[in-house]
Amino acid sequence: MSVVTAMKDIEKDQPAASAKPKYKRVLLKMSGEALMGPKEFGLDPETVARIAQDVKDVVDMGVEVCIVVGAGNIFRGVSGASNGMDRTTADHMGMLGIVINALCMQNALENVGVKTRVQSAIQMDQVCEPYIRRKAMRHMEKGRVVIFAAGTGNPYFTSDTGAALRASEMNCDLLAKGTKVNGIYTADPHKDPTAQKYDQLGYMDILTKDLKVMDATAVSLARENKIPVMVFSIREPGNFAKVIKGDGEYTIVSDK
Ligand code: UDP
Repeated sequence: MSVVTAMKDIEKDQPAASAKPKYKRVLLKMSGEALMGPKEFGLDPETVARIAQDVKDVVDMGVEVCIVVGAGNIFRGVSGASNGMDRTTADHMGMLGIVINALCMQNALENVGVKTRVQSAIQMDQVCEPYIRRKAMRHMEKGRVVIFAAGTGNPYFTSDTGAALRASEMNCDLLAKGTKVNGIYTADPHKDPTAQKYDQLGYMDILTKDLKVMDATAVSLARENKIPVMVFSIREPGNFAKVIKGDGEYTIVSDK
């Protein structure tokens, strides 16, 4: 596939600019670092509040939204393991970090008037609901934002895989991955000034071109279940609603 797809193809696959959202149910995946804002570690309340407002804008458009967050701002299992920790224990710590981020996101969303539920893949009844698919579906039908915490609940997986799994289970029309950049590039645009942005890619391109967007398990799940993945910048305020309407910049990964 060419680097930048012909405009015709892009128009065919992406919603018309400023049109009503073509998506009914969307899963928003954010890395833990997205919640860190300008900080070196942890959570930045201003950034989290701004993202909550961005999510509210999409909910107000009538789109059902669920969220998966990571925990790179707190703890990653692989870093623990590279420092000599038992990998499974380190991954459990990573998943608990995800629960912290999910609760923070829940609090910020409720502050702007969005009804939410947190459902964790690791049961912790005093803190949030356990993950129950049918209950999650019902929450979303009632207009609540469901935040899926603790990834897949299993070590050796990533929150991207958790996102692809939940998006598949929830029959989402789109997995929207909010990142630091406005799409997928031929190389890291922060390091390589000649890097070019792709408008559209196939799932297999991510694997064959070894693009560092999502791990192979997450890509395979999305592909198998035909869930398009949209990569966009979560850093710009208001951008989530914009890309859901088909405005702004992003890369779409699908087999169309
Ligand atoms: N994790 C896990 N199983 C999962 C999802 C996450 O063990 O299904 C752990 C793993 O240690 C990972 C950490 O949680 O490093 C945080 O997730 P991730 O690295 O995907 O966060 P992100 O990069 O999205 O912030």
